[in-house]
Amino acid sequence: MASVLQLPDVEAMTAEECLLWAYGRFGDKLCLTCSWQKQSSVLVHMVSELGLDVPVIELDTGLFFQETYETRERLVQRYGLELVRPEVMTIAEQHRQEGPNLWETSPDRCCHVRKVEPLERALKDFDAWISGIRREQSLTRKDAERVEFSERYDVWKIQPLVDWDAKRVDAYIRVNEIPYNPLHDAGYPSIGCIPCTRPVSRDEDERAGRWADSDKIECGIHTR
Ligand code: SF4
Repeated sequence: MASVLQLPDVEAMTAEECLLWAYGRFGDKLCLTCSWQKQSSVLVHMVSELGLDVPVIELDTGLFFQETYETRERLVQRYGLELVRPEVMTIAEQHRQEGPNLWETSPDRCCHVRKVEPLERALKDFDAWISGIRREQSLTRKDAERVEFSERYDVWKIQPLVDWDAKRVDAYIRVNEIPYNPLHDAGYPSIGCIPCTRPVSRDEDERAGRWADSDKIECGIHTR
């Protein structure tokens, strides 16, 4: 994929304008990834409202909360989503090949096997990837741009919500009555796999409940 592109003033665009521009530029080579947190709810709704035919890639680690799977089903039903689901080895296979409870012994390796490598495979069919990351989520995301080229994946990353704060996300979901993950109302501002996610207290960061007993703060998908 060409890493040089004449970009319009994407920072000045609204999230909707950014999606429209990306669809016009990349067409059927544009995809959206979903982990069924509230950003997924916003983007699935927005893409649908704009009438854009964008494939949705689900990175299902097989270790999501029941509430996450139920949220996925509600969004699939409401928006008629057809998911692209890259194959991931079963937990039993992972135990055999990598040792038991890899998330405890080597969470980076576990995230690589269950998230990063399947995403790399899925992105080979696309030139641009819409993701829901926001700058305020963590220090590692504070420099994220609305549109940036990823050498690592050889795709353009489209991040329409990059300048949204959590309140704006919540308000958009409420006003538009979009299905969302109920764990967000139970102290989980950020939701990943069961073994690596805990609720946070009011004074903690949004992502403090992810890999809380280690230095790890990113699964690796968005690491530059
Ligand atoms: S979040 Fe935890 S369980 Fe999920 S893939 Fe990463 S290390 Fe494994």
